[in-house]
Parts: sequence; C-alpha cells; structure tokens
Amino acid sequence: MIDFTFTEEQELFRQAAREFAETKIAPKVPDMEETAEVCDDVIEALGEAEMMALTIPEEYGGLGLGYVARLIALEEIARVSVATAMTLQVFALGIEPIIQFGSEEQKKKYLPGLATGERLATVAVTEPTGGSDPKGGRTAYKRDGDDYIVNGRKCFITNSHIADTITVMAKDEENPDAFSTFVLEGGMEGLRPGHKEHKVGMRGCNTGELILENCRVPGENLLGKEGKGMRVAMAAIGGVGRGGMVGCALGLQAACLEASIKFAQERVLYGKPISRLQTIQNKLAEMKIDLEAGRLLGYRAASVQDQGLRSDREFAAAKHFTTEAAQKAAKMAVDIHGGYGCMEEYAVTRYWRDAAVLGPSAGTSDIMKVIVARWALA
Ligand SMILES: Cc1cc2nc3c(=O)[nH]c(=O)nc-3n(C[C@H](O)[C@H](O)[C@H](O)COP(=O)(O)OP(=O)(O)OC[C@H]3O[C@@H](n4cnc5c(N)ncnc54)[C@H](O)[C@@H]3O)c2cc1C
Repeated sequence: MIDFTFTEEQELFRQAAREFAETKIAPKVPDMEETAEVCDDVIEALGEAEMMALTIPEEYGGLGLGYVARLIALEEIARVSVATAMTLQVFALGIEPIIQFGSEEQKKKYLPGLATGERLATVAVTEPTGGSDPKGGRTAYKRDGDDYIVNGRKCFITNSHIADTITVMAKDEENPDAFSTFVLEGGMEGLRPGHKEHKVGMRGCNTGELILENCRVPGENLLGKEGKGMRVAMAAIGGVGRGGMVGCALGLQAACLEASIKFAQERVLYGKPISRLQTIQNKLAEMKIDLEAGRLLGYRAASVQDQGLRSDREFAAAKHFTTEAAQKAAKMAVDIHGGYGCMEEYAVTRYWRDAAVLGPSAGTSDIMKVIVARWALA
C-alpha cells in the first residue's frame, strides 16, 4: 500500500502553519507590496514561529523536522505570501551547505543563530554571465596566507541586502575549473550589497546584487573541500532550492484556486453564479487537477529526500510541473475575474505577477527539462 495522506502530526503542523501565515504574515502583505521591502516584523515572526529551525538538526538548536515539513510550511506561507515563502526558501537553501558540508565548528558557530532567526542566510551563485551556466561565473578567489581573497559580482540574489550569512561560490583564479564555496558574514571587509532589483512580482522579498571587492575570507570559512564547491552548491540547489520553489508554487496554485472559487460563486451573470458555467468549471477543474498532481510530485520528492535518498531529479520534475502550473493557474484566475482581474484590489493580480517570477529561480523550466531528460534517458 502507498499511503498518500499526511500523518496526524503533519496535519496538525499544516494547520499551525496555516494559522501562522494567516495571522502573522497576511496582515503585512499590503505593506510589503506597497514598499517592495521585506518587513522586519515578518522575519521576526518567522523566527519566533521556528520556521527557520525546520531543517536544522536538533543538536544545533533546530527542530530537525525535515523536508516534508518544510514543504508543508512553505506551501501554507506561499498561499498568503509567495514573497515571504521565497525569503524563507532561500534562507534554507543558504544554510543547507553548512548542514551538509560544514565542519563541526562551522555548524556550532552558525546554525544556532540561524535556527532562531537571529541570523538570515542566502546563497550566491548566479552572476551576470548566466545562471544556467554556473561554471561561466567570473567570481574568483586566490590564497593569501591562511585567508582567501574573493572578487566578483553576484546578481539576482534573494535576501541580498538583509542576509548576514551568505554561501558564495567562486572559482580558483589559477585553476578556473576548480570551484570552492565559502560562508561569508555581513560586515566582512570587501563585501557589500549592490543594486536592488525592482521585480514585477514577489515584491515583498529582497533581490539584488552582492559585490565582492578584495573580500578577505578566513580559511576557516571554506565549506567542504577546496575545489569541490560546485558539488556543495549544486547539492543544496538540487534538493532544497528546487524543493523550496515547489512549495512557493503549490501555495500560489492553492491561492489561485481558492480565489477563483470564491469569485465564481459570488459573481452572478444570467441570474446565476458563474461557477455554474461549464467554461468556468473547466478552468477550476484544471487548476484542481494541477494542484493535486503537483502535490503528489512535490511531496513524493520531499519524502524521498527525508529518507536520505537522491531526490534532485524528482525535485526537477516537481519544480517544472508546479511552477508552470502556477503560471497557468494565475492566468486562469485572472480570466475568471473578468475585468476585476485587472484591478489591484483583487489579490489575483498579485498572484499573476508573483507567478511570473517563479520560473527562473533555482533553475529555469528549460534546465529542469534537461535534468528530467537525463533521468529519462539514464
Ligand atoms: C526572484 C529570483 C530570485 C533568485 N534568487 C537567487 C539566489 O538567491 N541565489 C542565486 O544564486 N540565484 C538566484 N536567482 C537566479 C536564478 O537562479 C537564475 O535567474 C536562473 O538560474 C537563470 O539564470 P539567468 O537568469 O542568468 O538566465 P540564463 O541562464 O541566461 O537563461 C536564459 C534563457 O536560456 C535558457 N537556457 C539556458 N541554458 C539552457 C539549456 N542548456 N537548454 C535550454 N535552454 C537553456 C533558459 O531557460 C532561459 O530561457 C534568482 C532569480 C530570480 C528571478
């Protein structure tokens, strides 16, 4: 038998995550949309609710609940704010290299503060030379005694202006085929945020550049082995990064469906609610099928990850499916709203803008297909 239901504990956790999202995050959404800034209260609330502790092992102050729990939390948070789910998703992506590859000293130094939300993390891989081709990045390091000197420019980095624990990938200046990953700390000499992006959607999360100018990084901040940094970064992106985007997409799909059902039941045309029109029902049915199918793909991938098995291919498939489905759902939700779907007081306009931003992060749909094709052909 395959049991597709949440355990009682998981269901209780889902209800608690929903209540948290609706009471602590939802009231902040209008402000974040207006200012295009992450609200400090939101970060504080995520910390207080132990949302940052989910994947951190208990011995380092975390909850050690794993990746199904993380997906549940992200789906519920994204249902009210995709931007906040994104802030949290990239946080977990940023700390995963420390969890998987950090030394005992590094784990003890960083993880407890990250678990409480006192520290905020991110990962910086993408560069202007192309995110799909991480080897094409130009950020480079060289040895200087016990330290490393890192120079380069990272772009499209979530939490760029607010994170103080940053996993950065760079290539060896003398051997451009060798990459290493370092933990950088806010305030380090030579590290500063650059341009802040103004995104079409997910306005309530921070995206921007990180500039490294002769940034001096102590040798003890190297994560994993020197020259093996591509593996460190890709292991985190393949599981946690793409898994997190699945959570963002599922939450958005659910929000689109709920808003569409509500509107379709309230909007009366020809003397009856438009939910009775078959064209509208077809759209609702497609959204529901995609949501259920996306959940099967996503939660299966997270469950595989929780078993300590390889999950990158499952997550690539789930990320492709759910982010594409979220874009489709947002378009249908706007369509169902007729002219009201163009008016900003309706949340579906935000869903539409947020959906447009879901695709590229943690790898585009084209790249997900490249990975899934390799899986199919293996
Ligand atoms: C909101 C947001 C948040 C992000 N947060 C982070 C972050 O925190 N940290 C981080 O490091 N990065 C982050 N990114 C960057 C993201 O990972 C990249 O945008 C993504 O990898 C794509 O890279 P690119 O934008 O340079 O597009 P490109 O790589 O230039 O791609 C351009 C086009 O070429 C296609 N393409 C590329 N290669 C292939 C191929 N082999 N086969 C077929 N088609 C291909 C792509 O699908 C795309 O259509 C974020 C991006 C966004 C939008």
